[in-house]
Amino acid sequence: MLFRSVIGHHEIKNKLIKSVNNGRISHAQLFLGPEGSGNLAMVLAYVQYLFCVDRKEDDSCGVCPSCLKISKLVHPDVHFSFPFIAKKKEDISNNYIVPFRDAVLNDPYLNLIKWYAELGEEKKQGIINVYESAEISKKLSLKAYEGGYKVSLIWMPENLNIPAANKLLKILEEPPDKTVIILVANESEKMLKTILSRTQLVKIPRLRNEEITNGLIDKFEMEHDLAENLAAMSDGNYLIARENALNVGSVNENFELFRDWMRLCFKKDIKGVTGWVQKIAAIGREKQKHFLTYGLHLIRQCAVLNYGVENLVNMGGDERVFMQKFAPYITHKNLQDYISSFNLAYQHIQRNANPKILFTDLSFEVLIMLNSVEK
Ligand SMILES: [Zn+2]
Repeated sequence: MLFRSVIGHHEIKNKLIKSVNNGRISHAQLFLGPEGSGNLAMVLAYVQYLFCVDRKEDDSCGVCPSCLKISKLVHPDVHFSFPFIAKKKEDISNNYIVPFRDAVLNDPYLNLIKWYAELGEEKKQGIINVYESAEISKKLSLKAYEGGYKVSLIWMPENLNIPAANKLLKILEEPPDKTVIILVANESEKMLKTILSRTQLVKIPRLRNEEITNGLIDKFEMEHDLAENLAAMSDGNYLIARENALNVGSVNENFELFRDWMRLCFKKDIKGVTGWVQKIAAIGREKQKHFLTYGLHLIRQCAVLNYGVENLVNMGGDERVFMQKFAPYITHKNLQDYISSFNLAYQHIQRNANPKILFTDLSFEVLIMLNSVEK
């Protein structure tokens, strides 16, 4: 992957490029960034730059044999470890490398949910086991095929089980010469402190709205205003922004659905709410999740509107008119309740809750919250 294909993060790219050109390559590094920040994409660009035999000032050449092998994830000196759902006790990541390559080449911004879906194992939790740690140790102790660096990239090391983490720790303590171990993680809280303390941290923050906006324009050639709207709704997570971009038609549908729902709840129109619940129950889980994300975005924007920070609110025509009427019902007292209720509903949908019961319950919560605001 080229640095220029990684969305945003210009300063981090420059730092990484400089460190390679100055020969300051740390033996153990942790690229820590939340989901949708592009930490894996950044590592792939970094490793390609490290191996490129014709480095340019601001990127790898993209055409030398090393670049070509790394861009296809088939370089013999770059080893990939990642969580998998073992079919046999002694399974290692390499047994699943073909689907992993496909998944990453198809989407270097992927998350675990997408990866497990790729394996056809949506409902299971993968781990990185001790056999994989042993494999890393073995691979790193061998001579490099091409005489240069050997890299071990460990994606989602939060999923190392304890024996595997302990074995990895030993490798981190005494890394063989010219080896680089790179951990690519979302949450440092889920990792052993002893591992964290032995790695050099490269922090990848959430993407800024304008970085996501530009990323969406590049990928989808969409209008600037629309991209900006989607970016504002994504909370710095490119995965969410891209998903919403693929469902652009549904933004309007979601708006109408949300506006109707709030009106019915406000009027305490139980019959109307029941009809509305039937409608939303029929649209399927993925769309229900989008709807809740969108609804929560509108509610948060109301809070912003209330604080008078109007220029933060990226909204057009109908939405803006509705929001101005609706915003006074979102107060500093009930905002957190809305956020908790919507987030909980979202999680329940993910866990296959019955949508009719779920949206009926949520409607009553909203009805009570809306009608208990003193004006
Ligand atoms: Zn190259």
